[in-house]
Amino acid sequence: MDLTAFTAALPKVELHLHLEGTLEPDLKLELARRNGVDIGQRTVEEVRATYVFDSLASFLAVYYPAMDVLVTRADFRDLAMAYFRKAASQNVRHAEVFFDPQVHVARGVAFEDVVLGYHDAVLDARRELGLSAGLIMCFVRDLPVESAEAVLEQALGFRGQIVGVGLDSDERGNPPAKFAHLFARAREAGFKLTAHCDIDQENTTEHIRQALEDIGVDRIDHGTNVVEDPRLLALLTERGTGLTCCPISNSFVTDDSRAGVIADLLRRGVKVTVSSDDPAYFGGYVTENLVHLTRGADLAPDELIQLQRNAIEISWAPEEVKEDFLAELDAYEALVAPDL
Ligand SMILES: [Zn+2]
Repeated sequence: MDLTAFTAALPKVELHLHLEGTLEPDLKLELARRNGVDIGQRTVEEVRATYVFDSLASFLAVYYPAMDVLVTRADFRDLAMAYFRKAASQNVRHAEVFFDPQVHVARGVAFEDVVLGYHDAVLDARRELGLSAGLIMCFVRDLPVESAEAVLEQALGFRGQIVGVGLDSDERGNPPAKFAHLFARAREAGFKLTAHCDIDQENTTEHIRQALEDIGVDRIDHGTNVVEDPRLLALLTERGTGLTCCPISNSFVTDDSRAGVIADLLRRGVKVTVSSDDPAYFGGYVTENLVHLTRGADLAPDELIQLQRNAIEISWAPEEVKEDFLAELDAYEALVAPDL
């Protein structure tokens, strides 16, 4: 069995995935037609041609306007369900997925249509695909803090649908500390906490420190620059705080997948995992990200299995989902071991 086939069939957990980043060109076109939104393109190929980026700024300039095609509760359901189908086809058994309500509310979409639409898909995924999923509401850090406060207020009414709170988008000038009071309220309300600390951002180790020490996040999205600060690395390791790493998206924003650093952290016992970030735009779901990492860092099959053990351990899945996943992973390991 070659490593690509092994990776494809491996049972997986996805922890760093932006639902709005799964808007494939064909669905974007369909939603635009459905809602009478003029996006300026008429064919899938024309839409795909706009999914080309050479910087974070050029990415964000396509990413946020694309959301205009999402209008009704059914649209949000269809977007998430298309992703869950894709994930299930790659043997993802549990997925915790981000969404950015501030951007939708600012366009006049009701908060509950966003949450309930995505939640409809979570229920359908469980029933139709046997896929377990949780929703993580992100604060969009480059929008006014007041708008983050407003969505947190609304999220308090949807504690049954939302498992955690995160922090994403443009990090420059928007450190985690700016949102510390909101994270404190979210924690008090029972939400799990995570925050993006993007690769090579200015003051990145200070941002990682704020997330770990001032906010006390349960995990960090990206965050591999922690290797630059031995004290923080020791703290992260001791606490078992996970890092959700996305090799293909790293290659887009920094010209380097950071495969070597991710593998090094894995071998040091840090709870790193591999995820797909914005797969429709970066051209790779979780299997492709694992293959990309394996090629970049010469990972062995048992290390690919360890990545999945880390992911389920640092996930916020119900205990029975964790147990079932680990049992399936053990069975997979035993089944394929003779061929490796
Ligand atoms: Zn992300």
